[in-house]
Amino acid sequence: MALYTDESVERVRQTVDMVDLVQAKTELRRAGGQFQGLCPFHEERTPSFSVNAADKVFHCFGCGEGGDLFKFVQLTEGVSFREALELLADRYGVQLELTEEDPRAAEKRKERDRLLELLERTAAWYARQLWESDEAKDAREHLLSRGRRTAGR
Ligand code: ZN
Repeated sequence: MALYTDESVERVRQTVDMVDLVQAKTELRRAGGQFQGLCPFHEERTPSFSVNAADKVFHCFGCGEGGDLFKFVQLTEGVSFREALELLADRYGVQLELTEEDPRAAEKRKERDRLLELLERTAAWYARQLWESDEAKDAREHLLSRGRRTAGR
């Protein structure tokens, strides 16, 4: 599966309003340079969940949960990073771009890797056959005599 570019991820990170995003799950109050609220990830009566709006990160001093905006969506929606990225891009109208490597190119690359691995294994097998098997005795002796001749030059 093709990946989204780092630029796409950064564009989503820049566009998303972290406070707005978190407010959908728990009410936040401004407290100094941060925002505080009841943690959406554990039961509590006094707020130990804080959000840094500028860096777009959250942390809970109660349960230790924390991370960035993507992690927040992953945790609250129960989705993967990719799904969280797509969800946010869709909600905030950010166009996601895929990396240069399209699925077909990736498939070709994997095929080439498989082929190379196969060649390596085959070569190793032939080498073993050449040095160890009875069938290759003649070939072996031929190579050895040629080796001696070369060495005696
Ligand atoms: Zn918590």
